[in-house]
Amino acid sequence: MNDDSKKEKILIVDDNKENIALLMNLFKDKYKIVPAIKPRRALEIAKSENPPDLILLDILMPEIDGYEVCNMLKNDEQTKKIPIIFVTAVSEVMDATKGFALGAVDYITKPFHPPMVKARVEMQLNLKRKQELLEKFAFIDALTEISNRRRLDEVFEKEFKRASRSELPLSTLMIDIDFFKNYNDTYGHGRGDEALRIIAKSIEKTLNRAGDFVARYGGEEFFVVLPYTGPEDSKMIAEKIRTNVEELGIEHSASSISEKITISIGAFTFMPGMNMNICDIIERTDSALYKAKENGRNRVEISQD
Ligand code: GH3
Ligand code: MG
Ligand code: MG
Repeated sequence: MNDDSKKEKILIVDDNKENIALLMNLFKDKYKIVPAIKPRRALEIAKSENPPDLILLDILMPEIDGYEVCNMLKNDEQTKKIPIIFVTAVSEVMDATKGFALGAVDYITKPFHPPMVKARVEMQLNLKRKQELLEKFAFIDALTEISNRRRLDEVFEKEFKRASRSELPLSTLMIDIDFFKNYNDTYGHGRGDEALRIIAKSIEKTLNRAGDFVARYGGEEFFVVLPYTGPEDSKMIAEKIRTNVEELGIEHSASSISEKITISIGAFTFMPGMNMNICDIIERTDSALYKAKENGRNRVEISQD
């Protein structure tokens, strides 16, 4: 298999083809290189579905200069995180301060000193990798390794806005493990943690449509967001989650309702046009869960108007 797709991608923007060729030669073995002679083309590539990991940006170009390109990229949500290194001739009076103020991370000078250029590009890609790793872990729950509450806030807001715009329903589920305090008391906190991990993975596996999302909401509670999903489908998915957890068959001798670990689920469907915010939706979903607990646990209850 061609592993070119796994290589990090560097976009080289320069109106001088010789410069592009020089830089390409320097990096082509290790990275995927995308050249752009015109700044407009560079902006297109940066905004594409496969954006570059780093941009080497010439300053002096006709049409739009490098500063302007940098400014546009840094003011666009979609491209603002891509590190930019300015490329400039020593003979040009380079305003490094201006470059940094616009958000560039470094600059290199022509004529190129290859080991130096390589080292600086390497360093920025390294920083980017570390930054991405940090961001990834900031959104993951350490125990269960599924998304955490912070990620949920982001996803939920995005889906809520989308549902409101698109006039399509949005369903939510609040899931809580039954008699989990007793489980810890009987089997110990370590086994409790293990059960939480297994149940989180089970819920995640049950959700197999693109866009469906689960997060650990807190303690032994999980929250599911189901975009474009009406009440019937939501109930079906909730039932599937419930039975899949039951079928894990995790022994729970201290549960009053089963020999195995079970969960209760509250479901709610937001229909565009309802005068509600995210807090209201969570409250409605939670009150459905409360009803599921009251009505005997190990069941799905739907919040009705
Ligand atoms: P109910 O059926 O009404 O939900 O009863 P419950 O015992 O599950 O509910 P309660 O809210 O009384 O207790 C929740 C328990 O979940 C208490 C707490 O020790 C346990 N729990 C919360 N977070 C964790 C965790 O990270 N690890 C472990 N092992 N247990 C946890
Ligand atoms: Mg609870
Ligand atoms: Mg519980």
